[in-house]
Amino acid sequence: MKGLKGKTALVTGASSGIGKAIAIRLAQEGCNIAINYRKDPSGAEDTEEKAMRQACNDVDACGVRSLLVQGDVSKESDIVEMVGTTIEKLGGLDILINNAGIQTEKAAHEIEADELDQVLNVNLRGAFLCAREALRHFLATNKSGVIINISSVHEIIPRPMYISYSMSKGGMGNLTKTLALEYAKAGIRVNGIAPGATVTPINEAWTEDPEKQAEVESHIPMRRAGTPDEMAAAVAFLVSDEATYITGQTLFIDGGLTLYPDFQEPWSA
Ligand code: NAD
Repeated sequence: MKGLKGKTALVTGASSGIGKAIAIRLAQEGCNIAINYRKDPSGAEDTEEKAMRQACNDVDACGVRSLLVQGDVSKESDIVEMVGTTIEKLGGLDILINNAGIQTEKAAHEIEADELDQVLNVNLRGAFLCAREALRHFLATNKSGVIINISSVHEIIPRPMYISYSMSKGGMGNLTKTLALEYAKAGIRVNGIAPGATVTPINEAWTEDPEKQAEVESHIPMRRAGTPDEMAAAVAFLVSDEATYITGQTLFIDGGLTLYPDFQEPWSA
């Protein structure tokens, strides 16, 4: 992808799943990468090792730098420190990937306020605060930085039993659009991707069981779940100079899940 070599990207929640695939792909494209993890560094270390190996498969990308940055995106002080450390140790920041996310399953009427807060604080408030810190740096250094929010098909598809997740991703859609509009004149772009069902640890309830996975996939028009690499490919495009006129958009990557799958076959002859 054009324009990525030598850029620096911070990926939140990059020790597994989609965040891991994005960090590896961006390193392969020649970006220095800051790999955020919340608690246990082992997943982040694995991301780093794979990213460096991938980068060195391509002579142009060999020599990219990496950094592990601990931080809980539900805590403002952690975010400020994480972004500051990335800028200090990697010499700046050009790309922020707001990927960290959690979900909890419960009937809406049974949810306590602190359970709701927990999901919103990671998925939405955390994404906003990371964006705010990145924007402060982009503006202070006159950089045309790029922010990508990892949303979900549940930005637009209601998801019963997951009200806090649905609220967070619905909010993320407007986070993307509003920031994009507010900073467009500064040359800063803000976009999102909205994955459909993707094979990652967040979905271990069905990815670990072939029968349950088949059931999930039967609802998807393309009849299969997505892969983290398919999400990372779209992110690489959106942050690159191939996408310099795209801002405020959420790209749905979902095998057709948002195409009213029930209409795939005619309802009547
Ligand atoms: P995952 O569970 O592998 O990844 C989530 C990552 O976020 C983990 O590495 C986790 O440690 C990290 N994280 C959680 N809380 C954190 C915190 N407070 N601070 C820092 N990091 C934290 O699952 P995934 O599928 O790779 O999820 C990545 C993103 O993609 C999430 O935002 C998720 O909502 C979104 N998404 C996933 C799917 C899917 O089907 N897998 C679909 C749509 C959207």
